[in-house]
Amino acid sequence: MTSGTRTSTSRPDADDAALARDPVALAQSLIRCPSVTPADAGALDVLQGALAALGFACHRLPFDEPGTASVDNLYARLGHTGPNFCFAGHTDVVPVGDTDAWSDDPFGGVVRDGTLYGRGAVDMKGAIAAFVAAVAAFLDKRGPGFGGSLSLLITGDEEAEAINGTRKMLGWLQARDERLDACLVGEPTSDQRLGDTVKVGRRGSMNGRLTVFGVQGHSAYPHLADNPAHRLIDLLQPITGEPFDRGSEFFQASSLQVTSIDIGNRATNVIPAQATAAFNIRFNDLHSSASIERWLRERFDASGARYDLRLQISGESFLSPPGSLSDTLVAAVRRVTGAAPQLGTGGGTSDARFIKDLCPVAELGLLNATAHKVDEHTSLDDLRRLTKIYGAVLDGFFAP
Ligand SMILES: [Zn+2]
Repeated sequence: MTSGTRTSTSRPDADDAALARDPVALAQSLIRCPSVTPADAGALDVLQGALAALGFACHRLPFDEPGTASVDNLYARLGHTGPNFCFAGHTDVVPVGDTDAWSDDPFGGVVRDGTLYGRGAVDMKGAIAAFVAAVAAFLDKRGPGFGGSLSLLITGDEEAEAINGTRKMLGWLQARDERLDACLVGEPTSDQRLGDTVKVGRRGSMNGRLTVFGVQGHSAYPHLADNPAHRLIDLLQPITGEPFDRGSEFFQASSLQVTSIDIGNRATNVIPAQATAAFNIRFNDLHSSASIERWLRERFDASGARYDLRLQISGESFLSPPGSLSDTLVAAVRRVTGAAPQLGTGGGTSDARFIKDLCPVAELGLLNATAHKVDEHTSLDDLRRLTKIYGAVLDGFFAP
């Protein structure tokens, strides 16, 4: 499964030391590596250079398995004692789409009018650069005897299959008895303004495909047929007509959205033989994919229709219960921005779903408004303030 690991102790050069202290320059250098998932394109080398300059021991962890793309990953640690504060993130990015639609080269790392443009600016090379710069400033202030360890868990496989990334790295950490005591994930969680949202969990997601079988026939002789279109409507009614729940303490209400209804019948006088509906369910911590499957099948079975239900689970819902880590993040955001963030669980899934099994985890990063979009960008002001927020998190976590 693993292709072997490499541990680097090579001496960094002066450029790397300067890069580690400048979140804008480091973010630009990372953006200039076109690391469209699962390609690395040199992004981890750039990051490793900066971390080595700060004294981190760097472990490259390439993983592969049959049928998947080989992916490179990086675990870096500074210090030998606990507690070990970890920052987790990814250097891979989603494709740029139509390059001509971008105002600048998506991999140019262009700065214009106080804004940094490029694929990965907010998701999430900017946040990685901010954390590295925060660590540099923290070490300048506190020195190596700050009372614990700092680590970075950076994967090149988050945006696609997430098979050869964080999950396998966590297995590698556990096999080495490498303990994480708290983990900050740098996904872009901010909605309207920097630091307005800290995520402490995520909803689960599953896709369903329901096919209902009937008996084909002439529409003038319906008593000789069995119309699956009518039966499909009957089956969808109970699952769309009543809410799953009203939400829970940290989650909005679960939701089922029908995304397609397909019969494909062009004849006006034929009752079709079958009808299919597709739907996506985003569910909160009151459910699991298994409990939702039971709930669906009970209702479909009660209808008496002949049906086939295919379910595909993208991820279970999870909550990392708020506690000292989320308190530290809230205090850090308030110190820098003057306003406390809300604790939320909205949006899509992230690698926090794997990390939550090892230690408390929470997510805080840049604005998500342009993530995965054309002209992805962050203001330099936000990038510098996120560096300050991450620095305040380290101050709070390692309070003397
Ligand atoms: Zn991301």
